[in-house]
Amino acid sequence: MTTVSWSGEPETSRGPGPFLSVRDLSVEFSTEDGIVHAVDGLSFDLEKGTTLGIVGESGSGKSVTNLAILGLHDPAHTKIGGEIWLEGEELLSAGQGTMEKLRGNRVAMIFQDPLTALSPFHTIGRQIGEVYRKHKGASKKDARERAIEMLRRVGIPQPERRVDSYPHEFSGGMRQRAMIAMALVCDPDLLIADEPTTALDVTVQAQILDLLKELQQQFGTSIILITHDLGVVANTADNVLVMYAGRAAERGTVREVLREPQHPYTWGLLSSMPRLNSSVDVPLMPVRGTPPSLLNPPSGCPFHPRCDYPRLAGPELCFNQRPSLSPESGHGDACYLTLGQKRELRIARANGTANADDAAQAGESVQNKDTAQTGDDA
Ligand code: SF4
Repeated sequence: MTTVSWSGEPETSRGPGPFLSVRDLSVEFSTEDGIVHAVDGLSFDLEKGTTLGIVGESGSGKSVTNLAILGLHDPAHTKIGGEIWLEGEELLSAGQGTMEKLRGNRVAMIFQDPLTALSPFHTIGRQIGEVYRKHKGASKKDARERAIEMLRRVGIPQPERRVDSYPHEFSGGMRQRAMIAMALVCDPDLLIADEPTTALDVTVQAQILDLLKELQQQFGTSIILITHDLGVVANTADNVLVMYAGRAAERGTVREVLREPQHPYTWGLLSSMPRLNSSVDVPLMPVRGTPPSLLNPPSGCPFHPRCDYPRLAGPELCFNQRPSLSPESGHGDACYLTLGQKRELRIARANGTANADDAAQAGESVQNKDTAQTGDDA
């Protein structure tokens, strides 16, 4: 893959910028059925010591993006374009040796299901210690002591005894803690947590998320938290990236995106979540339809087959032109609706008038107002 700087010149390093910067990333898989466009023109930044929550349905490109950061795609069947900068070093053009030194050391990952991620044949202590030995050149004795220390840090009781246990002797929550211990054993700068709490019950989920926050404060680790659960993001992340069909639909701080969501897909995600303070009579409103096939993604806005509002935003735009995130920094979204239309539609949905037709009517009245306003301005 050719590495090209933003100025068009080939380069392998650049000056200070965000801790992690992903630019125009595309990931395509060749399959028997054709090319899967798993990620398409994705850009985002992550600042040091902060947490970015990446949310979206299955198949939206969340995990594929993060596997690209770790260089874990099979090069024989994957075409990757764009740039991934980690503290001034471009990772997509880095050699295999560089990536091997980086993985588990500067960048670590917590996988969704610890039972399949951990080897059933080796003790927990050996699996944690092995990472430390490989990257830090530690002796067996030092690696064992480090494993005990890490188990203690992640709250495993009696770590001196538990270090010799096998994964099947741990509960689900303890296995996830052991995975976190393994991921943090080399004090990584970046931790990628891929649905780290999906397989856990709610109380253990809360404990694990608290633990991640505590460890972040202690070590200053930057975290990418992949989840389909906006509730998890609300409690854990600083910033959010909403992904749909391999593209960014919306990004902003947690407060911005949860308080004033701008993209109809984000509205759908939020209104399909039960809320503690809402009446039991208020029905949940799931996003209708299913995610598109990325073998043959929809033209125009990839969300248009499931969206209620192309008529308001302009069908020729929605059906034919890919919207990009706008504005380029801060709270932005990829949708052609005007700010006024979005505001009125949000209000209509919050008032429970937001079945598609009611909301569309509310939006139409705003569109008329917007048009009148434009006329006045002119
Ligand atoms: Fe819906 Fe059009 Fe906005 Fe896409 S651009 S989310 S189709 S209104």
